[in-house]
Amino acid sequence: MNEVLSGPDLKGKVALVTGGSRGIGRAISEAFAYAGARVAIMDLDGEGATAAAGSLPGEGHSGHQGNVADRESATGIVKQVQENLGTIDILVNNAGITRDNLLLRMKDEEFDDVIEVNLKGTFNLTRAVGRGMLKQRRGVILNIASVVGLMGNAGQANYAASKAGVIGFTKSVARELAPRGVRCNAIAPGFIRTDMTDALTEDQIGALQSQIPLARLGEPNDIAGVALFLVSPAACYITGQVLAVDGGMVMG
Ligand code: NAD
Repeated sequence: MNEVLSGPDLKGKVALVTGGSRGIGRAISEAFAYAGARVAIMDLDGEGATAAAGSLPGEGHSGHQGNVADRESATGIVKQVQENLGTIDILVNNAGITRDNLLLRMKDEEFDDVIEVNLKGTFNLTRAVGRGMLKQRRGVILNIASVVGLMGNAGQANYAASKAGVIGFTKSVARELAPRGVRCNAIAPGFIRTDMTDALTEDQIGALQSQIPLARLGEPNDIAGVALFLVSPAACYITGQVLAVDGGMVMG
């Protein structure tokens, strides 16, 4: 059995997951840890990051308080993880925020904050791990975008722009780093049950479900399984792709 056919095995790999103290990032961290990786979780919520890292199966995980939108914070944590665990093999840019508002009511801060965290944060971390990955001529970057970045959403012009930006960024990085053995892909989740979607009313959920062919909201583990596949050797010939994991909402 070769490494592709034997299933996802991340033994000996070091993964950095941003926003991993809860929700989708936490589920991805768990999936990676079960597959044998050592996982470093970076989150604005430092206590949450430490607690989440401590709950993962296996040894060698760590939690770090940091802000992806802050360049110094990003480079500092990447350096710390490299010193403690070794070169980072896998980066998941998962940290993200929403500041929803209708276009004409949207404040400058609501637009800027979402771009700074979702798009600039993805850039900050990718640049910070890039040097090490290029040097070792291998690595995998996975960005968590959104179906909203593909199809738009009323009240989320800032968020949709940031996630469409992440998609363009993913394709450019994939082209730039492919000759050096580094892959870069994105997942575009549909509506997933986390704190981010907690504010949805039952009526809104009902309306959403009617647009989802699989007729349910997603769970964080629905994303984690696909993330594990995309960073594993089974996906070694996939780069620059955006995979919608959305119950069939966006097709084509
Ligand atoms: P969540 O709000 O439950 O978790 C986000 C995590 O990111 C939190 O732990 C938070 O502390 C952390 N975070 C926020 N800003 C940060 C920063 N500046 N630096 C470091 N950490 C920061 O959200 P979630 O639903 O798990 O979303 C995870 C990712 O998936 C986000 O990028 C989100 O845009 C994307 N996504 C979510 C959905 C959904 O329906 N839940 C759909 C599509 C895409």
